[in-house]
Amino acid sequence: MTLFISDLHLCAQRPAILQLFIEFLNRQAGQCDALYILGDLFEAWLGDDDDGPDNARVISALRALHDSGTAIYFMHGNRDFLIAEKFAALSGCRLLPDPSVIDLNGTPTLLMHGDTLCTDDVGYQRFRRLARNRFSQRLFLNLPLALRRRIARRLRAQSMSRTLAKSPAIMDVNARSVAAVMRQHRVTRLIHGHTHRPAVHDFELDGRAAQRIVLGDWYAQGSVLRCDARGLHLTTLPLSG
Ligand code: MN
Repeated sequence: MTLFISDLHLCAQRPAILQLFIEFLNRQAGQCDALYILGDLFEAWLGDDDDGPDNARVISALRALHDSGTAIYFMHGNRDFLIAEKFAALSGCRLLPDPSVIDLNGTPTLLMHGDTLCTDDVGYQRFRRLARNRFSQRLFLNLPLALRRRIARRLRAQSMSRTLAKSPAIMDVNARSVAAVMRQHRVTRLIHGHTHRPAVHDFELDGRAAQRIVLGDWYAQGSVLRCDARGLHLTTLPLSG
């Protein structure tokens, strides 16, 4: 079985979600061939020296699943794109470029975080180009961690006030961008997260049946896409208590 998750946005302010995720990882030990984390595992990641209180717990739970024989793949989201080799080595995750095509039970499947599909959000795409620039990343990572935390808090506050002013349509994927990237990679199936709008969209792409599966966030519950030879199931995990 192969599992896909994204948009957990793990942070100290939501301990129940952290607990749900740790229990989810523990339950998968010995059950699951591969786990794909398609970005925004963390609410924020300020560099692999980020010593936030729960990071060590998450890393060791991932490591235990990896050691049980599950291949774990991590793709960057727009919140945790500074995750790098040290995190990968400690957790046992393999870093996966965005986009990537995998063979999922015989079907070529395109995996993305999803933020690059939101091309109507011009302001965000401009910020993304700067944030993903290697030179600006190196400058940022050379700052003391406490200063990085302050900068991240300010950027977050700005982004939240901008998000409130944006229409929901602007923050969803652009259908032409979806078609273009699926054509470019010659796939009829795409799995992504980011928009927090879990759904299975069946549509037609150049006369062929195509499918876009959107993973859900982990706010009020967990969201997991389970895939085996029998098919794909988008499921939820209830928060206990
Ligand atoms: Mn995202």
